[in-house]
Amino acid sequence: MTSTVYFGSPRQAHLKAEETLPAKLDLIIEKLQLRERVKDELVAIKLHVGNNIGYSVIHPVFVRKIVQAVKDGGGKPFVCDVEWDTASAAERGYTPEVLGCPVFPVGGLTGKYYYAHERTFKNIREWKVAGMIQDATFMVNFAHAKGHPSCAYGGAFKNIALGCVVGPTRSAMHDSCHFDPYWFRDKTNHADDFKKILAACPHGAISEDKESPGDLHLHIEPCNQCGRCLEVAPPESWKIDPVNFHAFQEACANSVDMSLSTFEPGKHTHLVLATQMTPVCDCFGFTSMPILPDAGIFGSDDIVALDQAVLDKMAESRLIEENVPTSMEIHTREGHPLQWLHGPYKDPYKVVEYGAALGLGNRSYELVDVYPVEEKTFGSMGYIPAE
Ligand code: SF4
Repeated sequence: MTSTVYFGSPRQAHLKAEETLPAKLDLIIEKLQLRERVKDELVAIKLHVGNNIGYSVIHPVFVRKIVQAVKDGGGKPFVCDVEWDTASAAERGYTPEVLGCPVFPVGGLTGKYYYAHERTFKNIREWKVAGMIQDATFMVNFAHAKGHPSCAYGGAFKNIALGCVVGPTRSAMHDSCHFDPYWFRDKTNHADDFKKILAACPHGAISEDKESPGDLHLHIEPCNQCGRCLEVAPPESWKIDPVNFHAFQEACANSVDMSLSTFEPGKHTHLVLATQMTPVCDCFGFTSMPILPDAGIFGSDDIVALDQAVLDKMAESRLIEENVPTSMEIHTREGHPLQWLHGPYKDPYKVVEYGAALGLGNRSYELVDVYPVEEKTFGSMGYIPAE
């Protein structure tokens, strides 16, 4: 089965407003028939509104278009995100006056409003879906694409996976990377082995376990799988294993499954704005230089096809290496450009693979360009002598 993904290129042939991304969003809204689908619905518009001095979040110009379309269709929209981000959302222009609808924290002001859902995945038994998400009857998931330190890519899946649950579930999802053991103290020969492994990492990705002194803890985010630690570790004492890196993405797919299961079929749609893509997530509260050229705007009812299409489009470009922070080390140029940046085990396609396995959509898609860029050709030019 093939799903449809609507696409607007960031390129334009002419210097006209109708060839730019907000206008192409209007066309995608029409293709998704958003207005026709939201009558009398309580519509959660899920954004990542960022925090601190980050400015690479989705500009209110785009969000207003979604809000207006929902209102035009007779729906009742609200914009939402996690409570610590909505607390300062006004600093990035996300106010009721600008957007045309209220901005709410998904889990209430204290982040403690949720509905519990049971499913066992590694360390997680219960998934706490945010109350404002489960209370909504329709969701527009509007994500900003960027890199991510845990899984290389943050897009449509990540916007729901971490942003539609409350704090304890978010923490448990990050902890899922540590469920499968990677440190085997009984395989070491000397007390010095511990220190050697710890000292081998140039990225600060290994520390002494706070809860278990004498044991090692791997910080998944800064680890780019360079393998230096493995060179000094006694055999079988320390693992850098894909299972620990992939766990977070499988947790994300499960979290999305849980949140989307609270909506009736056909009552959610998904958008990704792939511009100003930075090395790490908007949670970090700052904006770095772009590490890929702008890829455009994408929309689909199929979240799997959507993130697959965004990743494929990103992969048509090379990493802009001169924009990568100097503390980050590129030791491989194989696979997706986001793997160059975050390491080979942070395969950004894993989340769509797990999502498809859960029945959330198809990896096969047709990309429909809503405003194909006119290719201009120019005839040869005569010689114009200097005066
Ligand atoms: S693989 Fe490299 S980055 Fe990761 S913990 Fe080992 S030394 Fe550090």
